[in-house]
Amino acid sequence: MNDLRNLWEPGYLITDQNHDGVPDHINVNLQLPEGFTPSGLIDFCARLGFETTALTFNFLNGKEKAGYQMDFVNDEQITALKLHPRTKQFSFHYRSEQELSRFLQFLACEWPVAGIEKKPMEAIYFSEEEWWVEQGKRTPVAFPKAVENHLNHKNAIQSLTDLWEYDAFISDSTPHPTQKQSMSIDVDKSISQEIFLDICYGAARIGMSSTALKLPITNVEEADVFLQIENQNKEQSEITLDGNKIKVQGKGRSLRHAVRYLLHDKHWREGGTVSFWERPDLQSPPEEYVVSDLKWEGERETDVCLDLVRKHHSSEADEMTIFLSEPLSERKKIRNKVQKMTGVEKVKVYSSFKPIVSIVMEDWMESLRNVASEIDHIKFVCKEEMNEDGCELPIRWIQELYPLDEWLGEELSLHKDAVTFELNELQDPQVIMEVYDESGGVIFEKSILVPIHSMNYVDGKKRVYPVSNEIRWMVGGEICKQKAFATDRQNFYHFYQTHVLDSFLDELKLNEGQPLFDRIEIDVEMSEPEEKLSVEHERISSLEALHEDLYFNTLHFFDIHGKDQHFPGGVYPFMHVRKGSRPKAQIKIYQTENVGLKQGAVIGLTFQASHPYPTELAKDMNGVIRTEKVSVPPSSINVGKHVLKSKSASFTWIPEQSYKGKWIPVYEWYTETDETYLSRKKLSAYKPIILIETGHHANEVSSRPAVIELMDELSRSRSIDHLNIVAIPNANPDGDCIHKDMTRENPEWKHHAARYNAVGLEYAEHRYQSTPFGEARVVPDLMHRWAPDVVIDNHGIPAHEWIQPFAGYNSPPRFPKSYWLPNALIYGIGRKLQGATYEKQRDLLERIQNHMMEKVQGTILEEKNQEWMDRYKKYGHQWLPDIFPVEQTGSLLFFTWETHPDYESHVAISRFPDWVSADLTSEAADETVYGDDLKLCIEAQKVFNQSILEVISEKQSLSKYQEGGYHIIERKRPLTMKGETANENTLTHRV
Ligand SMILES: [Zn+2]
Repeated sequence: MNDLRNLWEPGYLITDQNHDGVPDHINVNLQLPEGFTPSGLIDFCARLGFETTALTFNFLNGKEKAGYQMDFVNDEQITALKLHPRTKQFSFHYRSEQELSRFLQFLACEWPVAGIEKKPMEAIYFSEEEWWVEQGKRTPVAFPKAVENHLNHKNAIQSLTDLWEYDAFISDSTPHPTQKQSMSIDVDKSISQEIFLDICYGAARIGMSSTALKLPITNVEEADVFLQIENQNKEQSEITLDGNKIKVQGKGRSLRHAVRYLLHDKHWREGGTVSFWERPDLQSPPEEYVVSDLKWEGERETDVCLDLVRKHHSSEADEMTIFLSEPLSERKKIRNKVQKMTGVEKVKVYSSFKPIVSIVMEDWMESLRNVASEIDHIKFVCKEEMNEDGCELPIRWIQELYPLDEWLGEELSLHKDAVTFELNELQDPQVIMEVYDESGGVIFEKSILVPIHSMNYVDGKKRVYPVSNEIRWMVGGEICKQKAFATDRQNFYHFYQTHVLDSFLDELKLNEGQPLFDRIEIDVEMSEPEEKLSVEHERISSLEALHEDLYFNTLHFFDIHGKDQHFPGGVYPFMHVRKGSRPKAQIKIYQTENVGLKQGAVIGLTFQASHPYPTELAKDMNGVIRTEKVSVPPSSINVGKHVLKSKSASFTWIPEQSYKGKWIPVYEWYTETDETYLSRKKLSAYKPIILIETGHHANEVSSRPAVIELMDELSRSRSIDHLNIVAIPNANPDGDCIHKDMTRENPEWKHHAARYNAVGLEYAEHRYQSTPFGEARVVPDLMHRWAPDVVIDNHGIPAHEWIQPFAGYNSPPRFPKSYWLPNALIYGIGRKLQGATYEKQRDLLERIQNHMMEKVQGTILEEKNQEWMDRYKKYGHQWLPDIFPVEQTGSLLFFTWETHPDYESHVAISRFPDWVSADLTSEAADETVYGDDLKLCIEAQKVFNQSILEVISEKQSLSKYQEGGYHIIERKRPLTMKGETANENTLTHRV
């Protein structure tokens, strides 16, 4: 360590204290003469900051023990910098403060100059604008004058609230890995040394937070941002904003407060007080009121049934069949009553929800058991649904049978493949069960006609054909009379569609950017079948189906009739299964005052000597200036109980708040230091950065615990020291709250009402827009702050069948694909960037797919994936491959979605194709599972995320250079994969 050529290299003024290969500490103490305020020191400090990723304000006249001391000696002969390696001492000799200032600026801007001999250097001299160095002999130094390059001017600063918003003094309006800073700092010469040093620290912090820093920053005429600090005899000090000029004026203590607020404080979202008056928890929540309170009560379908039997009984009937949407126990009661009432002995009461499953399980099973030993296979011949106006899929009647193959297999000790399906165009009844023996002969066959009703779908065009109720009187096996009647669900759904939804049609007022209502709360109480089956997580639950119908059909209704209203308001269907109860419902519509975006730009802040933070602010409300008093900043924020704690996270902060006012925290993992300030953008210039979003759809429960577990494990093993990782541990806290409310009564349902945000919005589509939905702003915030290389969005799918009888007995018709059955325990989606320049991104994606497939191979995850794929193919893919698509990488289901660069897209890799390397989504079957099943989904999410981290090389290509007056540090993107060679200027991380 005896060479001034390496002044700015790690080991001298800056070091890497945590040994991760990245400079993170200022290792020098500058001991300044009393009253000294050379402006060149501001440049010198900016450069010091630029060379590190972290720093603490203790290197100017500090008492802290630093590796090197730097002192200043008045010298009548010469201005010079000398290095005394033995004592680890730097000495500045100076003839005048002015010449020293020039010298400091030179070192900050130009050092090291090109073309110096490769020999250790002990001293650098400066006199009369001439430079020379001591390398055994004195050699003059020549350097080319930098060519000014002033490419992209920043727009004027909008508001003083923009300061330090994304971890940088002023950020570009568009996220980018480069944090460019072109700044002019102009300080009144009469300012005290105390305040001057505070400004020098600020310059170091600004330098640190830039990856492209224009130097010098003092005595310059052209810059993007001008900061002017003036000593003025005023009662109070002020910070004012005018275009791209920030002026700080005042004196004494209040001026020092203003400077420190501006340059030392952190944003309130990170625990500081910058812009604290904007904290949403300090604003009063919008008032809420009930717009409509509707009650509905129906007649029990069982009562209607008995009435109809009483009125229409046909005395010649020797047999009766009844369909009712009731649990088995209630249907048994009805059977007994009907038998008593009519004297007919042979009365069958089947369920009108998944009727064939109920008939097989409760009735045909007896015949099957009698011939169990003879059965070779069972074939269900199903009617191909061909209603042109219907929402139903052609396989509607195969869907009806799910999961009978596995259930029958268990009961009859048959392989599930011995139960097969056939689609047939010409038949009614809808399903015939044919039972075959080994020789291929039919042992017996059974069939029944299922009663169907027809209704309008919410789009007003298509129709739906749900199963309905019916009473059949029969003589000698032939129907002699029949009476159809509605199920409780049908009656209620019809009421909801006509009295609630259609009533909106007349008074639908679209309020730009605002939901139509805050929420519709629907409480439904009914006597309905609710039963968990022995197959996987399957259940027979007509009210779960009604929940899904109410939720998605309402959204679809507003989507169509509200002219693309993507966030009508919250739709919260609460279902109460009550055996034997009279069907009733309450529908309450709530409204709140409009939640507006922040208004008025802050253009002035006032400071008193007695307070370290602003006491008054001036706002520009469209040309009218208003001043507001600001109260004392409250204590920092508690992130809240809805977030799982991480033992290992390096930092927690709160970029946003949800629509309903809940904090949306973010966890960050990086190699920690003891420093007060740290630049994420600078860290990301050294190491790749991965963004993991969890809980995007809040009823998808495995990703949130998974990311915490994975990161705690990886941090313990220090296997991610070459990466920075940032996670949103609960991206949709409003949805999460709804999910917790809904699972209290029906824990294992899918509860899609908790999927989107509080007002039914797929908020991802509102990213990078001005929006009142904080959940849509978080990812853009992180793209600004970190510029992630890889973006992962962890999702989930239902763990059991998803049917909506009032929308075509399938998942919602507005989705182009069917999500009726889970297709895997875990599968992936990767965005495949199109275009000749993106070959490396495509290679990376392929590498990730292959590595993921290998990691899953031979594990229980692969086994479960196979089970689900078999079902998915048997019931869906083999009949309708476009609606039930399959795309595999080896044994792993992995969809690649062709994605084109589009600078307006909300998809990260599409919007930022030049620096985002990969963009992936996981899907685990976790809606809603618990215990060991949840553990398996958590494991699946962990494997998914980890396999992405594992393909990233520990060596990335890094370059540092000067161009057009800028000092630049950048890492090559797209990132380098393991096994690839990084470039010459490789930074090798500690392994
Ligand atoms: Zn999802």
